[in-house]
This record gives sequence, structure tokens and C-alpha cells, in this order.
Amino acid sequence: MKKIFMYLIASAFLCAPVLADDSQIRKYKVGSIEFISVKDINTNMGKSILLNPAAEAVKKAMYDDQNPSSINAFVVKTADKTILIDAGTGSGGNLLKNLELAGVTPDTTDIVIITHMHSDHIGGLAGPKAEKVFTSAQVYVAAEELRYWLNAVSSEKNAARTLKAVYADKLKTFEWDENIIPEIKAIGAPGHTPGHTMFEISSGDDKILVIGDLVHNIKVQTIDPSISVVFDSDPKQAAAVRKKIFKDAARSKTKIAGMHIPFPGVGYLSEDSAGKYFFNPSYR
Ligand SMILES: [Zn+2]
Repeated sequence: MKKIFMYLIASAFLCAPVLADDSQIRKYKVGSIEFISVKDINTNMGKSILLNPAAEAVKKAMYDDQNPSSINAFVVKTADKTILIDAGTGSGGNLLKNLELAGVTPDTTDIVIITHMHSDHIGGLAGPKAEKVFTSAQVYVAAEELRYWLNAVSSEKNAARTLKAVYADKLKTFEWDENIIPEIKAIGAPGHTPGHTMFEISSGDDKILVIGDLVHNIKVQTIDPSISVVFDSDPKQAAAVRKKIFKDAARSKTKIAGMHIPFPGVGYLSEDSAGKYFFNPSYR
């Protein structure tokens, strides 16, 4: 009896799949591409970030001020390239450590693509002494986004200038509707910032849409996509774009991935007859 018991225990261990730490990274397949969600940090962006915190949707979705979420970045591994989409907050964040869990190191990253130039998306590109973190990568940002921040009056322009100085000729720009590599197309989604960009990753018949900062509170903004946040540079435009993309993604059943959707930040939107949305997280 004891022998059988030991055997059962041993075989349970032998048969158990080797799991990656799925609280920090999560792997998906998009056709033949590997798509990996990587957590940078946990966040709680409460009601104060919403432009109309007294709205009905806020009452419905938030009993208190908790909006537990995360900042995510995404890795795209094609047959010959490793691409990182957004680079997290930098110092204090866990992106580099978690990228390692995904088998990605800064010096083997070929391309870093940026959705927009807020500090929680570009903070990880330069080290504390303004040194290059992704030493052999080309960094891509929308031409409109770079132009805007280099001319901005806010302190964010310093981050844009640092980035330009640090990456020099490795900093490249793209236009909307261009493909950065054949599998990744840039799609304009202005409003959050003037050059805010989404990326459509496709392989065969499969695709996923990285929506960047279209969403900061998935609970509230699915009930009412017209609610924008204090970080949106043009709240009206951000709301209009959010509504359109939500509708398209729900109707076409396109998988989406968001930087501020709770980790792993990947899933589907569905729409009810009243025009409200529901986010269905996806883990595979
Ligand atoms: Zn952000």
C-alpha cells in the first residue's frame, strides 16, 4: 500500500507540467508568433483619474476606490526577431526581471516599439545614468508622437529628449498604417496623446490588437467608453476613438491586449444591446 502511495506521489510530480511563473508572464500564440504578456508593476488607479467620477458607470463598477490593475508590456517573438512593445516604468519596476522569465534579455531584443511617450511606457528604455538599456535594439515611435513631445512644454519633453540623445540613430519613427515588420502594423489611436498608436500583430488568420492606453479602468470604461481619464491629452478624441475601437473589436471578435488592463491584460470585448461592453479575460 505504501509503495502504491509513493508511486502515485512520484507520478503526480512526473506528470505535472513545468509551469512558468504565470503571475508575472503569460504566453500566447498568434498563428506562428509567440506573444507574451509581461507584468511591470501592480497599480491602483482609483476614481481620481476619471474625468467624471460621479458618472453612473462609476457607481455601478466601483464600490470603493479600488481599481487593482497593472502596467503590462508585451513581447512578440517571430521566427527571427524579438520585439518588445513598451518598456514600462523603469526604476522600481520589474520588467527586466520578468522579461528574463520569458527568456528575453535587453541585449537580445531586436526592436522596441512604443505606443506613446508617457513615462510608464518609456521609463525602462534608459538607465539611471541615462544609459541605453536595450543595447542593440532599434526603438520605434510614431513620428507624430515624437514631434509632439520634443516640442511640448511639460516636463515630459525631457524624457523625449533623453530618449533621442540615448538612442540617437537607433531611434526610428513610423507613420500610421505602416508595417514596422511584416507581422506588426501601426494603427493610429490619437486622443490619449496626439501620436498614441495601437499595434496589430498578425500571423496567418490569427491576430491580436495591442491597444496601448485606450483603457485605464476596464470596469468603468467598458460600461461607459465615453469616460476619459486625466491622462488623456484630448479627452473627447480619446472617447471617440475608444468607442470606435471597442465596437470594431467586439464585432470582429478580435483579441485585445492593454497596458492598463489587469495582468495579463489580454481578452475579448463583447457588446450588449444597450451598447455596454464586457471584458472577457483570456489566459491562452
Ligand atoms: Zn500608461
